[in-house]
Amino acid sequence: MPGLRDLGEVETLRRLAAARRAPPGTVVDAGDDAAVLRIRPDHELVATTDTQVEGRHFLPEWLDAVRIGARLATANLSDLAAMRATPRWALVSLGVRPEHDVAALIELQRGLAVELARHGAGIVGGNLTAVEGAEWYGLTLLGEVARGAAWTRHGARPGDLLLVSGHPGRAGAGARVAQRLGESARAPEWRALLEAWLEPAARAALALALGEGVTAAIDLSDGLAGDLMRLLEASGVGALLDEAAFPADPELTRAAQALGVDARSLVLGPSDDYELLLAIDPAAREATLAAARGAGVSLTAIGTLTDVPGTLELREAGGGVRAIEASGYDPFAGPA
Ligand SMILES: [Mg+2]
Repeated sequence: MPGLRDLGEVETLRRLAAARRAPPGTVVDAGDDAAVLRIRPDHELVATTDTQVEGRHFLPEWLDAVRIGARLATANLSDLAAMRATPRWALVSLGVRPEHDVAALIELQRGLAVELARHGAGIVGGNLTAVEGAEWYGLTLLGEVARGAAWTRHGARPGDLLLVSGHPGRAGAGARVAQRLGESARAPEWRALLEAWLEPAARAALALALGEGVTAAIDLSDGLAGDLMRLLEASGVGALLDEAAFPADPELTRAAQALGVDARSLVLGPSDDYELLLAIDPAAREATLAAARGAGVSLTAIGTLTDVPGTLELREAGGGVRAIEASGYDPFAGPA
């Protein structure tokens, strides 16, 4: 198929629009100046946005167009999951080079739309911009939550339990293994880590399956220690993590050996896993774990919140307690 330079913006947008279907609640679809959307009575609108930049958030040699689209959907779905919102409508903004193949762009949109549709959401509009350098793909996702029912980062209290879904650290480990081993990282032994990095799934179903008792929530887009620190600061509490309680993860242990690093640094360090980190009332422990089992997602209690604001401590397997540094990913940090 021709590139954007050949087809032009209007025809490309027409083909992109023709390749998708408006989700429920769309009163006026793309094709007008703006979409008109109807939210349910007694609900609040929840909005988030995220952009993936070529060479920074994804490496084209590791991801095809469908997966790039799916990953962009996941980053946004995960933010809505962390707010307990049901995803509904998405707006796509793409900065693409004029030679970009239109068929590949439609594939990217397909990856995006399929992942959104799995959670009941869809695309209602978008925008195309020509760029010369790195391409970027942005998504704005709107969702709904019953009035007053949204989770935030700031409701956690001392004594609450800290729970995390899945296996934090795998995505970051997958990225590092790929960086270190190159093509050899495509071997079956690294598949679980590469999938965590390249094809993460948002915990949207888990968020909607949980009942009352969650006091604060955040999704892991930067890394367990870094994102936990944000929740602690927002809530004005501290945390004591229990290393012995962490989910056992032979995949991470193997990666740590191959990379010559401490497995603990992989669990706590930079990693965009899109797992959920929850603070819950201890009284809700059994009901929360049962709901997670019902949703088919592993959820593990990894620590307790303390009354020492902003401090993050780890009880090591040997019994000693030490402070840990919150090292998340900061795109603006780097050599001065
Ligand atoms: Mg987030």
